[in-house]
Amino acid sequence: MQLTNRAKPVDRQPMTFLESLYLWNILKGMLITFSHLFKRKATIKYPEQKRSFSKVFRGLHVLNRDAEGRENCTACGLCAVACPAEAITMEAAERLPGEEHLYREEKYAVKYEINMLRCIFCGLCEEACPKDAIYLSQTFAPANYGRKGFIYSKDELLIPHPVNDKEAYQKALGEKASSN
Ligand code: SF4
Ligand code: SF4
Repeated sequence: MQLTNRAKPVDRQPMTFLESLYLWNILKGMLITFSHLFKRKATIKYPEQKRSFSKVFRGLHVLNRDAEGRENCTACGLCAVACPAEAITMEAAERLPGEEHLYREEKYAVKYEINMLRCIFCGLCEEACPKDAIYLSQTFAPANYGRKGFIYSKDELLIPHPVNDKEAYQKALGEKASSN
């Protein structure tokens, strides 16, 4: 049965002697390969070389601290509510006396998880946050063999301490640091 009238009969003429040597086809292939030596390479030597992302690139999430190193997040849940992919889960806890140097607000997230397999990197969690506690950085989630490896816990998301680990903190700030 013919589905369209664009069918093209296949030419099944026997090859000539010259064609059966494939010399011209090999030469044509080598010319194409050779021509690529002088063209701009489409690939890079990752991970030694890395591509620069657009200024509006939204990558892996970072949970922010204030200048004294206290966690900004107050576990209000607004980011989880705003998330269209339902990728964020958290558990809240009350700050105890003597923990003021750890948590900025009276309530904090004792557990905070983002499922990167669900996340669509829309940035709505960052926009919804009233405490400047979460932002999407310029890095991306590395590949992983297991699904569990894509569920990022609070320890993985929390930015390094700005006083105790200045260098790592500045590195984690990345583009955000230069835009402030
Ligand atoms: S970037 Fe979007 S999808 Fe990902 S956790 Fe935030 S709100 Fe959810
Ligand atoms: S990250 Fe922001 S919006 Fe989400 S729970 Fe913490 S304070 Fe609330």
